[in-house]
Amino acid sequence: MRPESLMMSYGYRPELSEGAVKPPIFQTSTFVFKSAEEGKAFFEVAYGLREKHEGEELGLIYSRLNNPDLEILENRLSLWDGAEDCAVFESGMSAITSTLFEFLKPGDLLLHSAPIYGGTDHFIRKILCQYGIHTLEFRPGESQQQIIDRIGSAEGRLKMVYIETPANPTNALIDIEMCRRVGDHFSGEDHQVILAVDNTYMGPLWSHPLKHGADLVLYSATKYIGGHSDVVAGACLGSKQLMARVKGFRTFVGNMAGPWTSWLLMRSLETLKVRMDQQASNAAILAQRLADHPKVEKVYYLGLLKEDHPEYAIYKRQYSSPGAMLSFDIKGVEEDAFTVLNHLKLIKLAVSLGSTESLAQHPYSMTHADVDRDLKNALGLTEKMVRLSVGVEHVDDIWSDLVQALEHVGQSSSKTSKMSMTLP
Ligand SMILES: *Cc1c(COP(=O)(O)O)cnc(C)c1O
Repeated sequence: MRPESLMMSYGYRPELSEGAVKPPIFQTSTFVFKSAEEGKAFFEVAYGLREKHEGEELGLIYSRLNNPDLEILENRLSLWDGAEDCAVFESGMSAITSTLFEFLKPGDLLLHSAPIYGGTDHFIRKILCQYGIHTLEFRPGESQQQIIDRIGSAEGRLKMVYIETPANPTNALIDIEMCRRVGDHFSGEDHQVILAVDNTYMGPLWSHPLKHGADLVLYSATKYIGGHSDVVAGACLGSKQLMARVKGFRTFVGNMAGPWTSWLLMRSLETLKVRMDQQASNAAILAQRLADHPKVEKVYYLGLLKEDHPEYAIYKRQYSSPGAMLSFDIKGVEEDAFTVLNHLKLIKLAVSLGSTESLAQHPYSMTHADVDRDLKNALGLTEKMVRLSVGVEHVDDIWSDLVQALEHVGQSSSKTSKMSMTLP
């Protein structure tokens, strides 16, 4: 069966919970063992002191190691990407940082794409270096050979390639299979370069990086997976072998998702497919209408890529939908982008993405404020750009809101605040 058919039931047996049709919230820190022998056996498995017997499962011990809500959630989340295992964390950042820490040691080299999420970028540039881990970045459009040459002259031994695609906020694409080949080029008998993909922008529905050679997939579950802007969480997925390491690290750092977060995410997963389908269909209509609007200069949206564009082949190979994130340049300057943002009524002026409500923000001064000017220029990230995360509202209502906000461009001062707009 398809994942959307299994989100209501997979991995849960009502008879173990008084027949409750939904998993209860197991708000408990610890679990009672039937006998001392059972407790001993659970710990042997949990701490890897022996291999599991045929059919043996890890018993419930303590909620930092495992909890029914967390386990059912992880089993369900694995289905979308066809992953063997999954670990859910209290935030996207804790999933990302725990994964980087587990697989990188002093003297290692991390290659990553740019731009990447601001929090990840800060962690890589400002924190990993304190542990003697070398880092190197490449940009969308660089060839396999260019990247291999860069690594060849860099300090440290390549251990991990970390990418984010499509790049936020321009939707520039990184070729996952090309990154796999770069990783393989630097892998040896004694070490395999790990390819990790932050799939927050397109997953878990529209892109499945494991099928293109990635070893690990990472998510901010705060975005599409949670989908209601009311919970912060993250996930890492991959093979049983790699996930055993990620979960081991998580147990001792203690940043697993709690039962309440897990329960909320299970509730969200039931509607994941219908939400994302609606968001994508709204985005396709809005992107076309924006492209035809006289006050809009350019729309950044995968569905508008032409067949002769160098990224078109990657788009078709890696994604089953253009997604629900789009950016557009206003004909004008920063002030004009601010005018649009300040006049939106239905669409909320906020960062984050992938939620039921439409959100708009100004990447240049907000999410990408810390990105250096050079990179912004290279990416075409301008001050007149607005980024839109399309929600599930009626598409004509979102469009009307954009149209009335765009009408103010070139008419009033951007100093007009939201407050004064609400006065008669
Ligand atoms: C939001 C986000 C993160 C960080 O996730 P949190 O849940 O906020 O910790 C990482 N990567 C991407 C692409 C994101 O959008």
